[in-house]
Amino acid sequence: MTTDRMLQFVQTEKAMPEKRGADARKEDFDEIYDAFSEAAATMQASRCSQCGVPFCQTNCPLHNNIPDWLMLTAEGRMQEAWEVSSATNTFPEICGRICPQDRLCEGNCVLEKGFESVTIGAVEKHITETAFENGWVKPPLPREERAESVGIIGAGPAGLAAADLLRRRGYQVEIYDRYDRVGGLLIYGIPGFKLEKHVVERREKLLRDAGVRFTMNCDIGTDITFSAIREKHDAVLISTGVYKARDLKAEGDDLGGIIPALDYLTASNRLGMGDKLTSAEQKTYSATGRNVVVIGGGDTAMDCVRTAIRQDAASVTCLYRRDRANMPGSVREVMNAEEEGVVFEWLTQPDGFDGDSEVAAVRCSKIHLGQPDATGRRVPEPIEGSGYAKPADMVIKALGFDPEDIPSMFAEPRLKVSRWGTIAIDWKSMMTSVDGVFAAGDIVRGASLVVWAVRDGRDAAERIDAWLKHKASGADKIAS
Ligand code: FAD
Ligand code: SF4
Ligand code: SF4
Repeated sequence: MTTDRMLQFVQTEKAMPEKRGADARKEDFDEIYDAFSEAAATMQASRCSQCGVPFCQTNCPLHNNIPDWLMLTAEGRMQEAWEVSSATNTFPEICGRICPQDRLCEGNCVLEKGFESVTIGAVEKHITETAFENGWVKPPLPREERAESVGIIGAGPAGLAAADLLRRRGYQVEIYDRYDRVGGLLIYGIPGFKLEKHVVERREKLLRDAGVRFTMNCDIGTDITFSAIREKHDAVLISTGVYKARDLKAEGDDLGGIIPALDYLTASNRLGMGDKLTSAEQKTYSATGRNVVVIGGGDTAMDCVRTAIRQDAASVTCLYRRDRANMPGSVREVMNAEEEGVVFEWLTQPDGFDGDSEVAAVRCSKIHLGQPDATGRRVPEPIEGSGYAKPADMVIKALGFDPEDIPSMFAEPRLKVSRWGTIAIDWKSMMTSVDGVFAAGDIVRGASLVVWAVRDGRDAAERIDAWLKHKASGADKIAS
């Protein structure tokens, strides 16, 4: 499909969309990247060398047909670009904004070595935003209705991606969620400066317009039993994510002012969406004027430090026990945080907390990276005598998440889990150990990425469709 518009990487330099200056973006929670203009998107897309074996595509969890939609964009054939892009990705405008592209598609673009990668994510976002502007994105309405219903527990990206595909195939879809808003971590975890909320709400509306039903403020296991959900629906998908915050056991960890990351981010997101916080919540979750220390080095930690900056903290420091090169968070996010004034103390671990009733300092040690362990990562070892106290009156723990005990919560002991507590599935059928119950997203993989949740949700929908059609055909009865 190569045309003479392509292969412009030699004469055209890589350019991301304009990024707002750090001083301006610290003043609000709006996204920091502007949209590409038509001309910029065309020019950047034309840098692609249309590889015969496109490593960008192999390393995209959705195996998006990247070279084709880049070429169509370069030729100005935007509606076709949208059709190709949306054929494999339910939420391309969301992935284009928040995928860690430096570790996925762009990090594996052949141009990365020598010429810098094609700006794949930004072009993907541009294609879908153009489609929305032109009214090409329609509710996922079915061609014909089917009688069977599917109950989905969890309105995060995995559940929503599954709902979109199942509804297109005609199923009656009902989503249950314990939150009051649709979107899971897209709404209550990820801050607006990475993903503005209207982008998620626009997708919710399309699903509602297509007839997907939402039952919100409904905690399965408390408000409705899991067995009632099973009785009501022909198939059930569990896409509940992972929410048990990993804790840090250290002296003084019960002092006031030490808070879990997701509680902090949820409060900030709620405030941004116009909710009122109680005065106790305001006191706990406001970083204004405080010396904030965030412990951790992943995406969640990066979101916390940058939220604290926007709340006008007196200082914001990120403590991470490995170095910059071994940080799990996206390189781009670390760079954005540094530009905004966050200080990183690498190779540093917290040993305990000082204070009377409220935290006043974090006791820290410096770290040396030792020999690699079984996972290949070098083991952090504290350096003797390196201890010091870092003043802090707010400490945010961002150490990752584990799954809740779903079999107990759902009173369903037959639901098998892995040794990490995630729900065990047969990867071919995506079914759990309970007949007709499927699972997808973080609750299966452990804390992962939005793009993987979308992939799993789509795959689960395909398998549920096949299973229900097989059942409807009576093949089960014939076989027995
Ligand atoms: P979730 O998004 O967690 O959704 C699960 C839903 O299930 C929730 O709405 C929850 O309320 C509901 N639920 C749970 N239990 C019940 C129950 N018993 N009854 C009813 N409802 C229930 N990924 C990226 O790709 N890029 C990023 O930049 C990024 N940043 C992140 C920042 C933060 C702070 C966090 C925490 C995660 C981030 N991630 C990021 C990871 C990403 O958000 C997740 O991998 C993704 O949201 C998982 O999707 P999911 O649908 O499996 O679960
Ligand atoms: Fe890259 Fe994510 Fe888009 Fe795939 S979905 S092409 S990994 S930005
Ligand atoms: Fe184009 Fe880079 Fe993908 Fe090759 S690897 S097809 S140059 S985006």
